[in-house]
Amino acid sequence: MGKIEELLVNKGLYDSVDITVDDLDEIEKCLTKDEYAGNTIDCFCVHCATNRVFEYTNSEVHEDTGIMRMSVFDDGNPKVRRPKREEQFRRYLNKRYAMTYRCTRDRQHFIIFDLITTDDKIIKVGQYPSVADLVIPEIAKYKPVLGTQYREFSKAIGLFAHGIGIGSFVYLRRIIENLVFDKYNEVSENLEISNTEFMRLKFDEKIEALKPYLPEVLVANKNIYGIVSKGIHELSEEECREMFPYIKAGIELILDSLLAEKERKSKEKIFEKFVAKKTGELK
Ligand SMILES: [Zn+2]
Repeated sequence: MGKIEELLVNKGLYDSVDITVDDLDEIEKCLTKDEYAGNTIDCFCVHCATNRVFEYTNSEVHEDTGIMRMSVFDDGNPKVRRPKREEQFRRYLNKRYAMTYRCTRDRQHFIIFDLITTDDKIIKVGQYPSVADLVIPEIAKYKPVLGTQYREFSKAIGLFAHGIGIGSFVYLRRIIENLVFDKYNEVSENLEISNTEFMRLKFDEKIEALKPYLPEVLVANKNIYGIVSKGIHELSEEECREMFPYIKAGIELILDSLLAEKERKSKEKIFEKFVAKKTGELK
């Protein structure tokens, strides 16, 4: 996936990608006004309720974003000669692009993006349906393992979708905490250590103490909690926004393994019940 597609499909509002003349090919493909450029993105369609290919249909380009241009002084100077690609690249800068993509299954299904370009960045300033609308149906499968925490996970995604980094981390941290404490409450009687001792442990030590009972991926990556906490206390909004998709993927990995475990247990139960019943019948 190219970085502009990544910005469109996976990033929240006010996120950006850096661009240079080296990205000209991708920029021309994505920001062209030519509706026959055949530019497509893979994206969740809220109407089809599944992933679809969306095709670029049109864009409105505003020449003036109202943002101060750094290179304004040498622009009109005929003495400044630049290579052709550089010239072409600069034509895309300092503009605003309102773009429409349509679902290839049904042209009535659309998604719109609003982007602005500066001298060296493309910034996403608008999107409808929102990132949260696109992502939340995909996390619905985690409801059985998240329970009441499901709302918090969707809130984290909603905040991220609106460009809020640190706030979204607060919810992610609560999800990790609750996964660990729920497991502790479930298995505390089997543990060697007392409740007081457990509560005194640092969080990564708590994870270690519950090692046999927690998903391997969480135990192996127990630093995730420290990273998220550091985000809340020390990192910038931008750093948190950049890290969000990775932390979210990590939490999903943990949830995937809980989901698989739940499914395995329920199959085991059905199977054991069947064998017990048939053993009785066939005696
Ligand atoms: Zn559709």
